Amino acid sequence: MSKKYNFYAGPAILPQTVMQKAKDELLNFNGIGLSVMEISHRSKDFDAVITGAENKIRKMIGVPDDYSILFLQGGASLQFGMIPMNILNGGKADYVNTGAWAKKAIKEAKLYGSVNIAGTSEDKNFNYIPKNLDLSSDAKYVHITSNETIGGIQWNTLPDTGDIPLISDMSSDIFSKKIDVAKHAIIYAGAQKNIGPSGVTLVIMRNDLIEEGTKDITTMLQYRTHKDKDSMYNTPPTFGIYIINLVMDWLEAKGGISAMESENNKKAELLYKTIDENEMYSGTANIEDRSKMNVTFRLKTEELEAKFIKEATNAGFIGLKGHRSVGGCRASIYNAMPYDSVKALVGFMNKFK
Ligand SMILES: *Cc1c(COP(=O)(O)O)cnc(C)c1O
Repeated sequence: MSKKYNFYAGPAILPQTVMQKAKDELLNFNGIGLSVMEISHRSKDFDAVITGAENKIRKMIGVPDDYSILFLQGGASLQFGMIPMNILNGGKADYVNTGAWAKKAIKEAKLYGSVNIAGTSEDKNFNYIPKNLDLSSDAKYVHITSNETIGGIQWNTLPDTGDIPLISDMSSDIFSKKIDVAKHAIIYAGAQKNIGPSGVTLVIMRNDLIEEGTKDITTMLQYRTHKDKDSMYNTPPTFGIYIINLVMDWLEAKGGISAMESENNKKAELLYKTIDENEMYSGTANIEDRSKMNVTFRLKTEELEAKFIKEATNAGFIGLKGHRSVGGCRASIYNAMPYDSVKALVGFMNKFK
């Protein structure tokens, strides 16, 4: 099989060494003669996996002791509703509308309280991160989307929300750069972009918010249920957590978050430079708000874009079509995407021109 370069936005590329290790031990995990997929989540072998994943995440990004790490299901999309359901409770929340994902979060929050749009970039088709936010002093929290996967824009500086809890949907940039966890009250992410396969949602949440959460909602949707049982109230997505644990080992071996961040910077710089220096391509995001994970660009006509995507696919560059809602092209260059693969894409882009 010829080499494929995987630029899908999600589920997305995983580190090759992780996939190889998972393959090697698929039928015989830890020498126990069984797959990790077919053992009890209460077994000691799986316990080491989930505890390992949690501890590595805690260390990797410096999660303070008064925060819980939860492995949930339902995707980041369930968090859009679960957060206001637990902590909004008829109150008011500030949301920054940066695009498709923020909009979905806003829609769910409106079911549980009032929403103030503290900033929006809708006027320019979400090609920038709004500055000068109109934050409310009585908001229960402020919600942002740290990286808009579809539009290709990313927050570089966090808004200052004072004592008001900041909540961030980091689905598409978690572990891609340093994060000050203590500046956030909740961080959540579907695993399938930067940390593992689909089916697991990572939630990092300050314990006081968990404790204060609504009690008269179904047990599975209360955060305390999962905190009290260490994400084992019901059967967790064991295989996904196993892969996350391996991805954390891989990240650590690469030199951790700061090494990852500099590699991500290098990859994004190379790709944006190619787009900027080449009149065949034009970037869609405001330069200072460009995402280092999802690089969105256009060619002069839709016909040319279709030709570009077709020829790229034939050459082994997969997943470059922009999201169906916005069109154009998008190269997702998550953590697991090697620098050399971005270099290969750049080579193709120059040749296509
Ligand atoms: C992919 C994505 C989601 C949706 O994740 P699901 O796990 O499919 O629910 C939400 N927010 C962002 C920023 C995303 O990239």
